[in-house]
Amino acid sequence: MAKLIDLHTHTYYSDGVLSPSDLVKKAKEIDLAAVGIADHDNIDGLKEAIAASKKFGVEVVPSVEISSYPSSDTEFHILGYFLDWQNKAFQKALAAFQDEREKRAKKVIKNLNNVGYLINFGDLRALARGTIVQPHIAWLVINDLENRKKLKADFGKIPSTGEFIVKYLIPGALAYETRKTVTPKEAIGLIHKVGGMAILAHPAWSLVKKENGKLIFDDEYLDQLVKVGLDGLEVYAHRENEEDTRVCVEHYLDLAQKKKLAESGGSDYHGFGSAGKDLGFADFYLKVPYQVLEDLKSKNKQ
Ligand SMILES: [Zn+2]
Ligand SMILES: [Zn+2]
Repeated sequence: MAKLIDLHTHTYYSDGVLSPSDLVKKAKEIDLAAVGIADHDNIDGLKEAIAASKKFGVEVVPSVEISSYPSSDTEFHILGYFLDWQNKAFQKALAAFQDEREKRAKKVIKNLNNVGYLINFGDLRALARGTIVQPHIAWLVINDLENRKKLKADFGKIPSTGEFIVKYLIPGALAYETRKTVTPKEAIGLIHKVGGMAILAHPAWSLVKKENGKLIFDDEYLDQLVKVGLDGLEVYAHRENEEDTRVCVEHYLDLAQKKKLAESGGSDYHGFGSAGKDLGFADFYLKVPYQVLEDLKSKNKQ
């Protein structure tokens, strides 16, 4: 069988559940040849991951997933691959993003307290080892027994982290707060400055809406991202079911080939909250062959 890979995973340095070495170990156990560790605005897990790479014989692609905002209510995640992650200016830029997230989280907590949910910053800081993201906040609220009564009154049940995020934490929601962010162009620029390749994460979510059961693709916006330097697309990524995933994969594969964009793929594995699939898409029809990484590497040299 062809060697398989997963170029989009998270560790506990953002909102993943595993340590970098446990993630690489798990990749070995399910026979993956390579993993991309792409924590949100964070590269703190890479040193440990690279050490584990040698121990377990699984290739680690040093990666990051930067959140960028062309406007205050639209979010695009840009994956950076093959980064010179030890670059000090790059690390400083990521640290500034993390600080902004921390400041924002404090405001969000205040908003949640004001509507009657118990959550405090100390618990959040203890839960999130690295970058604080929305699922951490949702998880803490949902898992505090003292919030159960209010959650049930509010949602009619104990909600999933995803349901809580949609009701309280997304733009326009009750507890939402903005933070200082970068545009896609700036995120792509940061990645390029350290020799990385910039790939749009999960276009099947970011650029595809579902209306009346039909998938609607925003290819025009993709052109704008390409104009500001985007190198490629996460073609092999999931949507909410197999049928829609097949349509999205085919659409972006075709587009990547027409526009000569690089192709990437990954499960967005977290093992926490409601985002992503199992590592290596273990529970799903979709798989990412090693050839995808080979092609990325050769495009990166061009
Ligand atoms: Zn993402
Ligand atoms: Zn991700």
